[in-house]
Amino acid sequence: MRAIVVRESGSAIEEVGEEFLDGDGGIVVDVRFSDLNYKDAMALTGRPGVVRKHPLIAGIDLVGTVAESDDTRFAPGSWIMLNGAGLSETEHGGYATRARIKGDHAVALPEGLSPEQAAALGTAGYTAALAVLRILSENVMPDDGPVLVTGATGGVGSIATQLLANAGYVVYATTGRADQLGDYLRSIGADEVIDRATLAEAGRPLQKATYAAVVDSVGGVTLANAIAQTNRGGVVAACGLAGSHDLPTTVMPFILRGVTLAGIDSVWANLDDRADAWRILARGLDLDKLDAMTQHVDLDGLHAAAEEMMSGQRHGRTLVTI
Ligand code: NDP
Repeated sequence: MRAIVVRESGSAIEEVGEEFLDGDGGIVVDVRFSDLNYKDAMALTGRPGVVRKHPLIAGIDLVGTVAESDDTRFAPGSWIMLNGAGLSETEHGGYATRARIKGDHAVALPEGLSPEQAAALGTAGYTAALAVLRILSENVMPDDGPVLVTGATGGVGSIATQLLANAGYVVYATTGRADQLGDYLRSIGADEVIDRATLAEAGRPLQKATYAAVVDSVGGVTLANAIAQTNRGGVVAACGLAGSHDLPTTVMPFILRGVTLAGIDSVWANLDDRADAWRILARGLDLDKLDAMTQHVDLDGLHAAAEEMMSGQRHGRTLVTI
């Protein structure tokens, strides 16, 4: 089998025997598609923090057909998908022609999505859906005010923008590339495009209350400012750290405006939350727009795409054909 293997010395495409899949999962998958997420780009470019044991096959997502299964939910021949759940962290991931996985967090291909579309959405899309579900669960509705999406040209941000706009929310989208990608953001539903520099300088603990909710992929000062600009009773879904893992904030927005800071963890989300997230992705997106924002690579092109992602030169989603 062919796989991208991460070793202490770096990562490369290798031919390895099936005994390499030493995991104890009872489902063998012929992997057909994966995708490129920020975490994948970190792993492929040798950044620490994702791959926790070596050697390990990279790829935090996989979509494929079941070859063998000890799980009655997944019959041989059916499509199966796994996002997170330790893939490319402690378990062999999706950048391989075959995988051996556990069924605990796996889901069937959602009705209404093709295997390519489900893979293109991948962890980023399903994380965006978890964030939107969290906003809904806090009863923040479109009439309550605009929603801020940071890192909006990225995977999480692009899908969140589309989902929120299609659900009737007014979306303010931040980007560092308004000149190049402003039209792209408006085409997927952003009502306002904001230069990310306006949120990059440390500000006061409480600022003009503007947003009913926030979907943040950036972290750091951007997240602190977003919290400080959230309306009374609003919710901030903290998804990522594309800018920083820091959070230089104060308790003021929480105790004086009742703002909720909601952490979004896609890796170990339970099956019910996964099912809800995939349901709103299948129903709440314009799939033509998803196809239009999807770029395509194969295993041979992945390292170059990962370098581009880490240097902020990609946008939307990247589908990987295995
Ligand atoms: P992408 O690279 O696709 O998108 C990130 C976007 O953030 C970029 O498009 C860029 O937009 C913006 N950005 C990048 N660097 C900076 C910076 N220094 N300051 C401000 N903005 C910046 O990544 P993903 O959408 O796949 O992931 C986004 C984040 O979410 C990552 O940190 C990832 O690890 C995290 N994540 C977390 C998950 C979870 O379970 N909580 C699951 C999935 C992702 P622009 O150039 O337009 O400004």
